[in-house]
Amino acid sequence: MHYLFFMEIVLATGNMHKKKELEQIFSGHKILIPSDLGVDFDCDETGTTFMENALLKAETLYELVKRPVLADDSGLCVQALNGAPGIYSARYGSQGGVNLSDSDRNKLLLNNIEGAADRSAFFVCAMVLKTGPYKVYSVQESFDGSIAPSPFGGGGFGYDPVFIDALSGKTAAELSEEEKNRVSHRGKAGKIMKSVLEALS
Ligand code: IMP
Repeated sequence: MHYLFFMEIVLATGNMHKKKELEQIFSGHKILIPSDLGVDFDCDETGTTFMENALLKAETLYELVKRPVLADDSGLCVQALNGAPGIYSARYGSQGGVNLSDSDRNKLLLNNIEGAADRSAFFVCAMVLKTGPYKVYSVQESFDGSIAPSPFGGGGFGYDPVFIDALSGKTAAELSEEEKNRVSHRGKAGKIMKSVLEALS
């Protein structure tokens, strides 16, 4: 495939699952993570929205590397939990700073909504691209679905085994990488952001 414009982008994350998804979405561009540049990236997610946190991560990493960065802040919002875990998705159920495993977190979520009539849920992804001190681009997307009765499927990460995609009726963990990227919060946000990148050329 021929690309008119190539960019090296540093991701504001150490999450290798996100890196893999974003590498596919931003095919034709080079995706790095902070450790590839010997940079130790850590950012307190003190924002009250996905977008505030994505912006915080992008600004913090940009100050460290002074080159194009991409930050994604994402999470799962469950109707029966009034939108929780939301921006706290990665830390849901953690105690004393110790995070649960993905599978224990999913069990906790299933227990917490046991008996709920409404199992609808959605993922959100806020994405911020910063290519210069005053060049900042943002997009937010969502992925509609519901919480499965029990975990199912071997792909993906995080809440994927307990999240049923509204369109296909499969859990996100049953979708191939391409299928998930076509419908997911991150896939849709990334696709729009990729077109922003192309427009910058
Ligand atoms: P972040 O790294 O602070 O954005 O936290 C995102 C958290 O939300 C992850 O650790 C997962 O628990 C959850 N999450 C976000 N996107 C997905 C997804 O595509 N599938 C499953 N879980 C996700």
